[in-house]
Amino acid sequence: RCKKEARGGYCVSSTADNRAAQDRLLLGSALRESLAKGMLNLHYQPQVDIKTGRLYGVEALSRWKHPTLGNIYPSRFIAVAEDTGQIETIGTWSLEEATRQIIDWERKGLYVPTVSVNLSAAHFRNRGLPALIERILKERTLNPERLTVEITESVMMDENEDTMEGLAAIRNLGVGLSMDDFGTGYSSLSRLSRLTRLPLTEIKIDRSFIMNLEHDPNAQAVTTAVIGIGNRLGMTVVTEGVETEAQLKLLQGLNCDVVQGYLFARPMAPADMLAWSQDAGRRLEASISEANARQS
Ligand code: C2E
Ligand code: MG
Ligand code: MG
Ligand code: MG
Repeated sequence: RCKKEARGGYCVSSTADNRAAQDRLLLGSALRESLAKGMLNLHYQPQVDIKTGRLYGVEALSRWKHPTLGNIYPSRFIAVAEDTGQIETIGTWSLEEATRQIIDWERKGLYVPTVSVNLSAAHFRNRGLPALIERILKERTLNPERLTVEITESVMMDENEDTMEGLAAIRNLGVGLSMDDFGTGYSSLSRLSRLTRLPLTEIKIDRSFIMNLEHDPNAQAVTTAVIGIGNRLGMTVVTEGVETEAQLKLLQGLNCDVVQGYLFARPMAPADMLAWSQDAGRRLEASISEANARQS
């Protein structure tokens, strides 16, 4: 038995382990080089206000296309970035790039109310984060409400005082605070009460619940409950991973606020976002407001 197995993990063989570790190191140094050369991009996915059909905001998602390794997905390189100490570099770059983009769109005639940036738990432990965000907003002369930062449930469970103070300081700047992938990380109801101790403005229900919404009564029960709790706590509830009309109908019936998913658009390059808003986005708004008018 290897050490990993004794700790409850599994063990294939130490050579396979070494190879995986080596892969990570290689990918880590490729990432370092790409970051230094400015070769990462942000793509943006629209979030739609379900009641008006209007654009509520966009989520910024990192993309990395390496000249020889090809497209590497965030599920892979974000983990590598965490392991190799580069996650804060990515977070800082995302904040700078996303706030630059929202202003660029505005110059080109597209008003995006808010841009959401994913930040890692490690970044929230850095006491300098609120000051960094404040500096970026000042540099851009951007209304803090135009920026939202997404945190994961692991941040919510973090007992670290610096993290809690940091979250409060960020919220005090006027920046939105969103709980991402809600429902995937905690295990008991008592932990749910921690939600009220965080200054959250938004809660995002994880895609795994939306995926099963049509056929699984449990997923529907959880979704209904979370929308109810979110609304009662004064938060905007966003559902991610909406792919079908049937899911959209169900979510409208459940009084969800905002939807995001392939049904509306995939994450896209900034220029495509301009085209989308003039074309598909407009049609979407018209059809949702028409449907709502018919209902009332
Ligand atoms: P996330 O923050 O929960 O982002 C949503 C993910 O779901 C994105 O995957 C998005 O492309 C995908 N998605 C959206 N709508 C649909 C849908 O209708 N169907 C399906 N099947 N998928 C949908 P992506 O871009 O691959 O990102 C994966 C995760 O990587 C993100 O999950 C986030 O946790 C992380 N990530 C991405 N960019 C960054 C970043 O800049 N910083 C950090 N810390 N994490 C990032
Ligand atoms: Mg997210
Ligand atoms: Mg998410
Ligand atoms: Mg998710």
